[in-house]
Amino acid sequence: MQTHFTSAQLADPDLAVCNQVLRTCVHCGFCTATCPTFVLLGDELDSPRGRIYLMQEMLESGTAPSRDVVTHIDRCLSCLACMTTCPSGVHYMHLVDHARTHIERTYRRPAAERRLRALLAATLPYPARFRAALRAARAARPFRRLLGTRLSAMLALVPARLPAPGVSGEPRVHPAIGPRRARVALLAGCAQQVLAPSINEATIRLFTRLGVEVVVARDSGCCGALVHHLGRHGAALAAARQNIAAWEREISADGLDAIIVNASGCGTMVKDYGFLFRTEPEREAAARVSALALDISEFLHRHGYEPTRASPGIRVAYHAACSLQHGQRVTTEPKALLARAGFTVLEPKEPHLCCGSAGTYNLLQPEIASKLRERKLSNLEATDATVIAAGNIGCITQLASGRLPVVHPVELLDWMAGGPKPAAL
Ligand code: SF4
Ligand code: SF4
Repeated sequence: MQTHFTSAQLADPDLAVCNQVLRTCVHCGFCTATCPTFVLLGDELDSPRGRIYLMQEMLESGTAPSRDVVTHIDRCLSCLACMTTCPSGVHYMHLVDHARTHIERTYRRPAAERRLRALLAATLPYPARFRAALRAARAARPFRRLLGTRLSAMLALVPARLPAPGVSGEPRVHPAIGPRRARVALLAGCAQQVLAPSINEATIRLFTRLGVEVVVARDSGCCGALVHHLGRHGAALAAARQNIAAWEREISADGLDAIIVNASGCGTMVKDYGFLFRTEPEREAAARVSALALDISEFLHRHGYEPTRASPGIRVAYHAACSLQHGQRVTTEPKALLARAGFTVLEPKEPHLCCGSAGTYNLLQPEIASKLRERKLSNLEATDATVIAAGNIGCITQLASGRLPVVHPVELLDWMAGGPKPAAL
């Protein structure tokens, strides 16, 4: 498509990238068919093509967008199904990421929305604060019906029981059992270690048994994706910078064969550090980190995984997290590993559609998010599986209200290789 940025605007590296992305789009509209918000709402402005037009106008004008424009861009899940579908290779993610930053810098949201977004940014990335917030939210649950739709929807997502804090998120080295075959850093994450520490525990048990030393690097923490999707570019860079420095120290100390991410939303972000830091002094280190980043399923598939228990004959419905299938294009490895472990792997209808979790989306857009959750749950339950497996903590939390237990694939793989049976089963 034609663009009309001035040469002064194109001197800004972020706008230069947006210009390239916009020029790749040929308006064919193929992406609309797989966009969850267009499928639900049927409005062109809630489709990728419609949003691309809105973002072009907003960025070319350089001014604050209208409430309407913000509404349509806020409704985007950043699920990236449009990128998988697009035949022209439009990098929608880099465009919408910058559009969100532009909105955050130029648009003044209503006071209640500003407070909610500030609260999420100040809580979710910090495990101790997040745990305290969940405890307070559990105390408020009985009063749910007295609160507004959004707060009530937020409280509905709070788990009935909080697992005890584990040690798997603490900085330490977990030595390989037997000869060391590889050394990896594990991103311990933020919300995941509060909501489901069992995922990191299963990862560490399985890896060390496979002869892989696992280090949780001191000062590594939230990947920055949560605040990045809120348009807080500076805060996202600060979180990423801390991780890059922490992993660079590990590379210098004893080398790293990979940086393992077991929450695919975070994996998409870490794999993009090289792009995010392309004009920053840390660009080489960031590119090194991105090149080492692997989803846990990619590493296990390459490294070799063998079960040690007999097949339990359990039917597993595999839910492909958007950040894994669209953001990282990792599609076959998790299913192949589950099948190797002896599970019968089932795929639901409409596997490309988002479950509505999408970082903080289910907290900020509860109505659309709950429609997507019900649709996804009904497709997953129609497989007649015993359990759902999903490689992203956001999806696991979002789908937990259904009839089937939801686990991370690594919990099943660890069980079949000598670990404990996942508590959810
Ligand atoms: S499919 Fe790609 S090229 Fe076609 S309208 Fe969508 S983003 Fe543009
Ligand atoms: S990222 Fe997802 S919700 Fe947003 S425009 Fe693309 S397909 Fe639609």
